[in-house]
Amino acid sequence: MRMPLIAGNWKMNGSLELVEQFGRAFAETGLPTSVEVALIPPTPYLAAMQSALAGTAVALGAQTLNPETKGAHTGEVSAEMLNEFDVRYVLVGHSERRSMYHEDDAAVLARAKAALASGLVPVLCVGETLEQREAGQTEAVVLGQVEAVFNALDAEQRTRMVIAYEPVWAIGTGRTASPSQAQAVHAAIRARLGEYDSELAARLRLLYGGSMKADNAAELLAESDIDGGLIGGASLKTNDFLAICQSA
Ligand code: PGA
Repeated sequence: MRMPLIAGNWKMNGSLELVEQFGRAFAETGLPTSVEVALIPPTPYLAAMQSALAGTAVALGAQTLNPETKGAHTGEVSAEMLNEFDVRYVLVGHSERRSMYHEDDAAVLARAKAALASGLVPVLCVGETLEQREAGQTEAVVLGQVEAVFNALDAEQRTRMVIAYEPVWAIGTGRTASPSQAQAVHAAIRARLGEYDSELAARLRLLYGGSMKADNAAELLAESDIDGGLIGGASLKTNDFLAICQSA
């Protein structure tokens, strides 16, 4: 019922040359039809990535957006601008945006709403820090971040979301959550979604992110509530990323 989604978040990495490499790799390698794949390059590469992926089934995503439609916001991009490309997904609430660019729950909600209003699919990133995990606050933090957005959306908007659980301590550290640790949090998120609507809980895709790689993807994706991955470091090499896509 839930089509797995494997999304590669390049963060502030890559080059036009790498965009071309990925275009060639996906043109040569057929993807299983049972998995959806997206690439999320830095904003300046959206046009080149769109061309490189033409004719493949790989979707395009963006890393951030500003909730305003236009105006004096130097350095920012709007949902309308992203929509001039074939962008389907946009990350909101990534922990790097929350911690380095001070995006709090209200800012994340504003971005999710702007994305939804433009027909983009927000990938809402949530996750606890190591300190919060060790203090036994994982569920409270993660569900709080989910509720800060979902409580403010209507039933139809909720169905157009994707959630990515990314424990902050696992991002870029090589330290992956174990499949059972990740599954426990995913199950808690799904149970919370069920309080809005059981159909929503059954249908919404919950991705895991945080040092997911070719050699641990299969066991994470085998968990019943893990419906895909948000991949950082391992999405920068064609072989690694393709291997993850094929294990989904
Ligand atoms: P990582 O990043 O795979 O490099 O840990 C994941 C993410 O931040 O989306």
